[in-house]
Amino acid sequence: MKALSSFSRIPLGVLPTPLYKLENLSRELGKNLYIKRDDLTGAALGGNKIRKLEFLLADAKDKGADVVLTAGGPQSNHAMLTAACAARLGMRSILVLKKRGELTGGNLILDDIFNAEVRFVDTDTYDDVYAEMERIMDRLRQEGHTPYFIPVGGSVPLGCLGYVRCVEEIAWQSKELGVDFDAIVSAVGSGGTYSGLTLGAKLFLPGVRSVGVGVCDDPFADIAYDLMRETAALLESGVSVSQDDIHIRYHIGPGYAMPSPEGCEAVRRLARREGILADPVYTGKALAGFFQLLEEGFFDGEENILFVHTGGAGALFAVDMV
Ligand SMILES: *Cc1c(COP(=O)(O)O)cnc(C)c1O
Repeated sequence: MKALSSFSRIPLGVLPTPLYKLENLSRELGKNLYIKRDDLTGAALGGNKIRKLEFLLADAKDKGADVVLTAGGPQSNHAMLTAACAARLGMRSILVLKKRGELTGGNLILDDIFNAEVRFVDTDTYDDVYAEMERIMDRLRQEGHTPYFIPVGGSVPLGCLGYVRCVEEIAWQSKELGVDFDAIVSAVGSGGTYSGLTLGAKLFLPGVRSVGVGVCDDPFADIAYDLMRETAALLESGVSVSQDDIHIRYHIGPGYAMPSPEGCEAVRRLARREGILADPVYTGKALAGFFQLLEEGFFDGEENILFVHTGGAGALFAVDMV
């Protein structure tokens, strides 16, 4: 297997992020619940995309790019963090966003602070967004620029490496704490984080079950399977990836990027028990799904469970709590 350190990476985050026990929720729910604070990755408001961008923007720099383009919804945490990291690296950022959902406030304020160029496309599909990005990139090339394209969520094998590396970090922290985790739980939005965590668990924490909570209705079992195989190939790891490694449940509520009563209740519960903020449309929904699975006995026989907090604070100020 190739060493993770053999891939270009620019340290954009402040790592490792903290990992510790949620004492009050553990008592309340009768399990040893731990949290990995990837909401504290250290750039802008933190969040999971920083780990992917460490590899993606290193690749952009290696290829001589001076402009980075990415896509998302108007409140995309990924787009905002791409703008933050591009600014730090002296690159222009162009965010091509679907004109659907909350079109003011929240992450759009931050995009502007980071001097991102925001273009809206009035569409329901990413095909239209990507077509517009192709047009913009053609124009940039004609003007002598070198654009670098990052798809939605940075969920390509190179981005997934960020979460394979995160599991290496978790394995080391678990040894320090003297705790063997039985399961890891995370939100699934475009699939990269979950795929990296699941592959990383196979490599660095064998036997640990990786559970994802989908927050939109994409077929994540298939998406994760493909991403894990491609990332394993990139790493020349030789590890065999199976559908049996993938455990995905869903908590979507009324729709992607729309708050659900259970998700908002989970945000309040985490805040009021542990003093930690989550957002209502990603981490709040993932927590709601996690609490539901605990209630259903999904983790029976598993005592030490790690929840990966993937960030999302920017959306708290754009989405109404219900
Ligand atoms: C993007 C995002 C996720 C989902 O991560 P993916 O790698 O896209 O699946 C979860 N939580 C937050 C806050 C995010 O911004």
